[in-house]
Amino acid sequence: MAALLLVMLLPAGAASAGEAESLGIRSSCQAYATLSEDLAAIVRNEARWSCGAKEYSLDAERVLLRFDIAPGETLPRYFLSRRSALEVVHLLAISSDGAIRENTIPAAALQSSMAGGYFKAPLPELTGETRQVVAVIDLPSHKMTLERAYLAPVDGAGGVSDMRFALILAGLAGMLVMPLIFNAAFYRALRETFVLWHTALTFSLLATILVTSGLSVLLFDPPAMTLSWMTTVIFGMTVASGAMFTHSFVEPGRMHPWLRRALPWCAAWAIVLSVFHAVFPFVARPIQSSAYTAAFAPVLALFMLSMIDAWRRGSRAARYQAIGYLPMVVVGLIRLVTGIVPWLPSTDATLLFYAGCVCEVVFTTLGVAERFVTMKRERDRARNEAELLERLSETDALTGLLNRRAIELRFEQLRAEGFTTLAIIDLDHFKAINDVNGHSTGDEVLKAVANALQPGPSVRAYRLGGEEFVLLLRGEDAGTQAELRRQAIPAIVAHTVAGLERPVTASMGIADLLAEEDFAALYERADKLLYEAKSAGRNRTRSAVRVVEVTQGFAGERAMSA
Ligand code: GH3
Ligand code: MG
Ligand code: MG
Repeated sequence: MAALLLVMLLPAGAASAGEAESLGIRSSCQAYATLSEDLAAIVRNEARWSCGAKEYSLDAERVLLRFDIAPGETLPRYFLSRRSALEVVHLLAISSDGAIRENTIPAAALQSSMAGGYFKAPLPELTGETRQVVAVIDLPSHKMTLERAYLAPVDGAGGVSDMRFALILAGLAGMLVMPLIFNAAFYRALRETFVLWHTALTFSLLATILVTSGLSVLLFDPPAMTLSWMTTVIFGMTVASGAMFTHSFVEPGRMHPWLRRALPWCAAWAIVLSVFHAVFPFVARPIQSSAYTAAFAPVLALFMLSMIDAWRRGSRAARYQAIGYLPMVVVGLIRLVTGIVPWLPSTDATLLFYAGCVCEVVFTTLGVAERFVTMKRERDRARNEAELLERLSETDALTGLLNRRAIELRFEQLRAEGFTTLAIIDLDHFKAINDVNGHSTGDEVLKAVANALQPGPSVRAYRLGGEEFVLLLRGEDAGTQAELRRQAIPAIVAHTVAGLERPVTASMGIADLLAEEDFAALYERADKLLYEAKSAGRNRTRSAVRVVEVTQGFAGERAMSA
């Protein structure tokens, strides 16, 4: 999907960018002046102009660009150029008789062009007699504003006014919304900082596409200078969140600690730089834009270094990022080189940049998704192991029933779930089985008894130690359920363990939990009832349960008492 969009975007974008420039009239001569000089005098003084050489300087306070209008040419209506901080644009229309008409537009009144990254200013009305247009820029801050200037009869040829281009851009922007939704879901499951930084990164790249492409003009039509400073600040945010994402996303131990520690400083540096450049664009105006661009060189270097380092240390995160960032790094290099080298026209490689935005988000999202799966798997495994250990610590090894610890830990919860009837079951004359048949037969009997107790949704069975078992029950027929199990013991033991001389019977004390009674008190009452059952001859139940149905026992003995 991303690849398809990119393949579509590149030729379409390239064609329209070329179209925009070919449609326009480019300047043929330029002159430099101070703000106090008279414009008309410079316009008329041919000696002030240099023509042919396309090399611009920002040293002068004021730069004049002259455009020749051939007789019969379609008359341009707009002056357009790359957005960057400036003070005023004066537009002069000069007729063949030397008359001058002027439009003066302060920076704040400049409109945004549909061609992404450009501003537009309306020319004074031109006539068939107009031979030249002179555009005067006071306090230009970026060479591209001089290099890219052109006159055009319509606004933004090749920008978002081209339906296909606008749709592709909107599609790209839409693709960046999906990772935001994924991230919200990831973050709900795993509260990892890298998900937040990835969100910040995706968000700032989405903002970058909106602000630099002309989509924002189509949607909100903000003033050109607003978009200009926003572009700068958003670039800083992108670099900062990218650095912080790498800082938090590369696996522990997979990046040199110095590099990892340096990344937050890169992020802070990027924010300080971009905010400063957006708020104070004229502090060192002639060199500020170049200095600003150059100041990102250490960030780029450090970033590439940490990627390479993490890759070499076997980081999977770095692999996803390196592939995702590749177009971005190329964009960075192009901007840097063309921004610093004086004889190269500076370019911001906008189309490659959009491709880079999407590539970056797509690959880092894949990385985040993979990490999410790995972390979830690890977490689940750890949790399963913990649960297993916990279960083992609450399980009686011989019978597999729950043990005393389990009942002590869980009693409050079970009580809340309605398990309020406690039965203590003790085997009768068990010692004799050990003595006659041996200890291992005794163990077999205990296992068989555990089987007879049959835990279920309303019955929890425990072995508290020795030949003493406990049932926790809930429901109207709790007493009956306990009694049925007690009475099932002789048959099940006889069926399972061979060679026993006598049926193995059990005695039981059973009681309902009283209000404000704790486990210990309930246990004590049930134990007392058990003792009574033993004293009364064994193989019977003594009960303090409210509703009890009397059931015929295996031994044919009615042993229930109210
Ligand atoms: P009563 O009817 O009064 O309950 O008599 P009893 O013999 O069942 O009670 P007593 O408490 O005197 O004896 C319990 C015996 O249970 C003593 C001990 O040897 C045996 N016992 C305790 N734990 C185990 C075990 O894990 N395996 C086996 N085989 N015997 C055990
Ligand atoms: Mg016993
Ligand atoms: Mg006992």
